Amino acid sequence: MWDHLSLKEIVEIAKDPYPSIRKWAKDTGKKVVGSTIADVPEEVIHAFGFLPVSLIGTDKPLKKAPSRLPDNACSLARSNLELVLSYEGDLFDGFVLPQVCDTTQHLSDIWRISFPDKYVESFLVPRQADRPSARYWVKEEVERLIASLTGWSGKGLKDEDLKESIRIHNENKGLLKEIYEIKRQYPASLSNKELFSLFKLSMQVDKVEFNKSLKEIKDNLKTVKSNGYTDVILVGITCDPPEVYDLFDEIKLNIVGDTLVTGTRYLQGIVPDTANPIDALTERHFHRGFYSPIHDDVFKNFEEVKALYKQTNAKAIIYVHIEFCESQEYDLPDLKKMIRKEGMPMHVLDTEYQTLSLSHLRTRLQAFFESLKGGSL
Ligand code: SF4
Repeated sequence: MWDHLSLKEIVEIAKDPYPSIRKWAKDTGKKVVGSTIADVPEEVIHAFGFLPVSLIGTDKPLKKAPSRLPDNACSLARSNLELVLSYEGDLFDGFVLPQVCDTTQHLSDIWRISFPDKYVESFLVPRQADRPSARYWVKEEVERLIASLTGWSGKGLKDEDLKESIRIHNENKGLLKEIYEIKRQYPASLSNKELFSLFKLSMQVDKVEFNKSLKEIKDNLKTVKSNGYTDVILVGITCDPPEVYDLFDEIKLNIVGDTLVTGTRYLQGIVPDTANPIDALTERHFHRGFYSPIHDDVFKNFEEVKALYKQTNAKAIIYVHIEFCESQEYDLPDLKKMIRKEGMPMHVLDTEYQTLSLSHLRTRLQAFFESLKGGSL
């Protein structure tokens, strides 16, 4: 189903992965478990024999979500709720929902009420990750999730199954890392949209199959030097709708680094190879980069962006702001101030899952890069 796919097919499936997930579920008879982002240990869900699927919104019209969430709830939460209420809810046998911000706290209650007949479990990560108790907390949550899935599935989790699942997921991230590295050096080897479609689909489909596609794609990428690209980094949580990447491709931006949950932060989830898989899953939680709703050092966001900008030799930062994301809105004013003081050019792109026309984004983006270069791109 997801092996031997071309880049073109991957872009198409990533735009709407649900028909293929439906077919997979029908063919295999296996259960599908959805999670909103971020940080649910998908390896655990997979080790039970279920398909973990990250829910990353929909561009289909909002019909039911506005009656359950206020207009000023973030676009991602509204879009994800709509996805399950109106379009794909029946596909999922259950959900594991993290509570990372106030919006997701309310959202998981709404979810539970909306799906009384489905398995709905929460995954609660500490929002202050630098506290000494945070490690203990994360480990307790991983163990609680395992106990809950054991109760639901009626079968226990074997250590070797969890280790094998970790190996498959690590392999997936390793392959994505290699492809990203090739794209950094050879921007014409694959487009930004193609690269981030690989990430997105990795978070949504069976990795045993998809890793085969990734291997073939990696081996066949053309490594030819090309000119005329402007190296940039992307900062944010997600970058949607996917057509935003078309804008970057149109004006020949080469994304050489990012902090997205649907990008590098996913890669930072490689699980260390230690004897106890639960300890390893706990430990990796603290190796991930900055994520707006989860805070420790107040300067971490700025320091990470600055380090990435310098390390990649990027020419500009594109901050992707999800409409009404309260966590980003809390961070952004300070981040802007510090970045301006440091003399790093930054453009804030406001995104909304239900946006169909991107012409206003295109105009502002073009104007920013023209002013940066002192002329037309
Ligand atoms: S972190 Fe932001 S985008 Fe994510 S659910 Fe919370 S408010 Fe929405």
